This record gives sequence, C-alpha cells and structure tokens, in this order.
Amino acid sequence: MRSRIVHQPRGFRYMETRPAPAEPTAWIVLPGHADAPAHLSVVRYSPLARLYRTAWYAFLWITSTVATFLVTIFDPFMTSMPLFIGAVMTYRSWRGRFRVTEFRGACPRCREPIDLKAGSRIGTPHHLVCYNCHHEPELYLAA
Ligand SMILES: [Zn+2]
Repeated sequence: MRSRIVHQPRGFRYMETRPAPAEPTAWIVLPGHADAPAHLSVVRYSPLARLYRTAWYAFLWITSTVATFLVTIFDPFMTSMPLFIGAVMTYRSWRGRFRVTEFRGACPRCREPIDLKAGSRIGTPHHLVCYNCHHEPELYLAA
C-alpha cells in the first residue's frame, strides 16, 4: 500500500479547521481508506409510521402510474416515468428508518466535508457521495 506524504506547516492542526467529533456517532467507510469518524444525530421512525408512509408512497406510485397510462392513451414511454420514479421513492421510503437531525462528517479520502441535509431519511448503511473527489463512501451508525 502506498503511503502518503503530507506537507503541513508547523503549528497547523487539522482539527481546528474541520472539527472532528469528540465521540463519533457514525463512521464514514471507504474501502482502502481509514474510517472517518462523523457526528450524526437521528430520530428513529416507528415501524408503524414507516409502514404507513411506505404504503402511502406505494398507493401514489400505483395510482399515478395507472392514471398516466390512461391519460396518455396507453403510452408506454410516458407511463414508465411515474413507474420508475414511484418505485424509487417507495423503495427509499422503506429504507428510511432514521431522520437526520444533525450531521457533520468529512470524506475519508479528501477530507472535504460531506453534506447530508437535516430531515433526510436514511437507512444504515447510507450511501454518500463526495462531490469533491467523486468517491462514494458509506455511512454507518455507530450504535
Ligand atoms: Zn472526497
């Protein structure tokens, strides 16, 4: 494995510019790199709320697909749009076990902060994208 030589001026402390949490509540994992600690606060959805929400998404998915199919007079290309968008949204709703209230974390590769908006619905592991180096680490809850 190739070692990295990091040139830093004396007195420069990495932690001052990008604060790392005292006790990480999540880890950002990218194969081939050291796991990066992250601070993540989440609220767990109740299983029933998650089930109702997903059932509602599935209902919207099916109704919008059928409605588009009828309105466009059986056009398979137009119908594929609500079909695929609905499938993705229903799947993501089912995966979303937690609601993010706070997130601070940096990319394990390039150390740039990764953005994850408060209010996002996530499962664990959660797929992240670093828009600086374009690698795609996974976010794991520590607890
Ligand atoms: Zn990166």
